[in-house]
Amino acid sequence: MKTSELFKEKTVLSYEVFPPKTADDAHTIYEALDGLKEVAPDFISVTYGAGGGTNCAKTLEIATAVKHQYKIESVAHLRGIDLSKQEVLRIIGELKENGIENVLALRGDVMPDTVPTGDFQYADELVAYIREHSDLNILAACYPEGHPECDSIAKDIAHLKRKADAGASQLITQFFLDNEDFYRFFEQTQAAGISIPIQAGIMPVTNRKSVERMVKMCGIRLPKKFMRIMDRYEQNPTALRDAGIAYAIDQVIDLLAHDVDGIHLYIMNKPYTAKKIYDAIRNIIMA
Ligand code: FAD
Repeated sequence: MKTSELFKEKTVLSYEVFPPKTADDAHTIYEALDGLKEVAPDFISVTYGAGGGTNCAKTLEIATAVKHQYKIESVAHLRGIDLSKQEVLRIIGELKENGIENVLALRGDVMPDTVPTGDFQYADELVAYIREHSDLNILAACYPEGHPECDSIAKDIAHLKRKADAGASQLITQFFLDNEDFYRFFEQTQAAGISIPIQAGIMPVTNRKSVERMVKMCGIRLPKKFMRIMDRYEQNPTALRDAGIAYAIDQVIDLLAHDVDGIHLYIMNKPYTAKKIYDAIRNIIMA
């Protein structure tokens, strides 16, 4: 099923997983997926080479298992920066052969080991290419606080509109820690004529080091309320985990009260986190 169809019927709830880095950890993704069966995902998306390196085969393998073994709709991420047009054609052919109908088309970041091919300079070119060569449903990324490389939100939203015009049919945001940033961004997208559904990306932060790394890379603002939690509980991993989950639940409930199109949870392959959030919101998301 094309995941864009889901928004006509409900508030969409999805989870993001990533392929484990080493072969020794390969089993952990299936343990995570076993846990995610219990938390009613409308779809699960599988990242592609996030943090550098290519693991296209792993993304395909996991997205295929999500769809056929776990019977949950899957979205395969695809990063254009270091792929040639021929490689993209091959990958979209493999997605189709494996029955995967949804792809999240990204530019990707230039990491030390990235060799840009020049075929896809920005994500809108990848979106247009996939649209031209397949009937896959195409998702794209967006940034409530602006993409770190762009010097103004207005320009970034103009670039985002190009992705929608090129054929993206739904958007997922970068995570944010202050919902007001999302509401402001949403209004700006509507004013710019972007009318496709936008899912709010929420990351339950359960580890101080990882949030600091991501904040640096993605330019996320850290609200005072959030920092108080990090400062107070950083020496107590269990308390920090539970406080981070509670903070995310608070964000999700507020977003649902605002009738957001959907929630996308960056659960870092941790079904415990997904379960805690799902249990807290299950009646609210259906209301
Ligand atoms: P683009 O939409 O191309 O935007 C990148 C920058 O270029 C922005 O600053 C934009 O304003 C600017 N821009 C766009 N078009 C133009 C133009 N025509 N002229 C001038 N400037 C322009 N990375 C991975 O490697 N693997 C993943 O699986 C992955 N999953 C992600 C999932 C989500 C939901 C999100 C939000 C991000 C994900 N990323 C992933 C990270 C992403 O690759 C990076 O954020 C990357 O820097 C930008 O990708 P993009 O597709 O948004 O790029």
